[in-house]
Amino acid sequence: MKPTLVLVGRPNVGKSTLFNRLTRSRDAIVADIPGLTRDRHYGHGKIGDKPYIVVDTGGFEPVVKSGVLHAMARQTLQAVDEADIVLFVVDGRQGLTPHDRIIAEHLRQTGRKILLVVNKTEGMRTAIATSEFYELGLGEPCAISAIHGDHVGELIELALAGF
Ligand code: GDP
Ligand code: MG
Repeated sequence: MKPTLVLVGRPNVGKSTLFNRLTRSRDAIVADIPGLTRDRHYGHGKIGDKPYIVVDTGGFEPVVKSGVLHAMARQTLQAVDEADIVLFVVDGRQGLTPHDRIIAEHLRQTGRKILLVVNKTEGMRTAIATSEFYELGLGEPCAISAIHGDHVGELIELALAGF
């Protein structure tokens, strides 16, 4: 059975960029416009002899309304339900936001295995990029750069450990 990694996070944190890197495709739509990605998007990848499935999430549903129900689209919640591992992506340049906290709380309640991924950390010191995210209580954050590929291999090794 191929493990399924599901990318979750608020718009514009770099989920689709990471999806493209993990699947070596250009299928996901990467844009400066938040929320442009189609609701769910599946791809296949492999590291060493370990294959995996990646699901990109996004969706057109507005995130301007407050509250948990609006924080994550129903499609995203369905994808999380099918996840072996959730890669919860946050933006290391922007820092921790209220929306991140709501998503984190929601993910925690699903009982899924969650890896906290701090993206856009190229040129930043890991300790500084990750420090404020520890308070989400999701364990040690992984600092990566989806655009440059920094530490993406290590992230996948970590995610697939035990599969
Ligand atoms: P999504 O909405 O979470 O799917 O985010 P996208 O993958 O569409 O990326 C949103 C924006 O962030 C785009 O302009 C990307 O080029 C940019 N981005 C993604 N990954 C990185 C990264 O590692 N470093 C930097 N500096 N920008 C990134
Ligand atoms: Mg996207």
